[in-house]
Amino acid sequence: MYHKLLFMSTPIGSLGSGLGGGVELTISNIAKEMLRRGHQVKIVAPQGSISSSLPIKEIPGELQIPAQNQTRTEPIFIPKNSVLANMWDYARQVQADYDLIVNFAYDWLPLYLTPFFNTPIAHLISMGSLTDVMDQIIEQIATQFTGTIGVHSQTQAATFKLEQQCTCLLNGMDLSIYQFCNQPSYNLAWVGRIAPEKGLEDAVASAKITGIPLKIFGLKQDETYWQKICQDYPDAPIEYMGFLPTVELQQQLGKCLALLVTPRWVEAFGNVAIEALACGVPLIAYHRGGLTEIVQEGKTGFLVEPDSVQGLVEAIKHLDEIDRYACRQQAETNYSLEAMGDRVEQWFQKILKK
Ligand code: UDP
Repeated sequence: MYHKLLFMSTPIGSLGSGLGGGVELTISNIAKEMLRRGHQVKIVAPQGSISSSLPIKEIPGELQIPAQNQTRTEPIFIPKNSVLANMWDYARQVQADYDLIVNFAYDWLPLYLTPFFNTPIAHLISMGSLTDVMDQIIEQIATQFTGTIGVHSQTQAATFKLEQQCTCLLNGMDLSIYQFCNQPSYNLAWVGRIAPEKGLEDAVASAKITGIPLKIFGLKQDETYWQKICQDYPDAPIEYMGFLPTVELQQQLGKCLALLVTPRWVEAFGNVAIEALACGVPLIAYHRGGLTEIVQEGKTGFLVEPDSVQGLVEAIKHLDEIDRYACRQQAETNYSLEAMGDRVEQWFQKILKK
């Protein structure tokens, strides 16, 4: 049975800008796979969103502030001429043309609007618990509209105390884009938005101690934070590679000895971790958030005591114990577009049956 799906993108940045973090790739990948399966898909996204292959409806307006920059008790902010509000106004007008609306925004408004729509809404929540007001509305919708809340990991669901109510979807990548590389050069990698919750400084510190050059890929979302790292570690062997499109990112990432994943927050999942695995790159990650469900200890990487640079350094010494082929295999088994598509499709079908 084919469905008509309306995907509502993140309102914190246009698709392709990098501001949306992992959500950008998640939404494109799910859309791609649903189209391949014969479903109809339209993506509603802020103006400036680009995709060569996906149907996008661009919506003008002011961007939302990222939730990770807010304190726990902060209220909801909505700017004048809000792109989020404009996107949902569009959804309201076209809802009769769709069987299901899928919300990818970590925002209060779409959750709040759920009972006001005639078309059912599925919410794929992309981060763990950050603010009280979001926790409250997520719990409310999880209770009133059973089965409509999706998450990327059990650890993420636990931050909302909603392990039983959420559908865990992990994530998936188009593995045909990621090439397996078995001959790495003498480099470590760090990939992500350059922002405090990502803990880049610990990866830089471990590069300094081991002397192994660290290649850094990602958008400088917080320039001050980046400058401080450069000042604190003036002689660390690091190289900033820029924010690269997936095809180039995987080419460079594949050539690295390992990916260091050093989040300070409960990372909901960690797209970059499964992208690394897809290239055959082992993971050295803090024992935190979704990473604890991705890393197969001693087989595809190592989990390290959170915030321990020494732990990273020790794990780096054991990298030769990891078979890079096992990393690629884990990606093929759990994180292919097909595997992710099955999980997502089942989730949609359950919601539509109700
Ligand atoms: N990314 C990219 N080019 C880069 C660095 C990162 O496209 O040079 C993408 C990466 O593919 C991933 C996203 O940025 O999809 C980061 O997502 P992740 O889930 O790791 O973290 P988030 O930013 O959502 O917290």
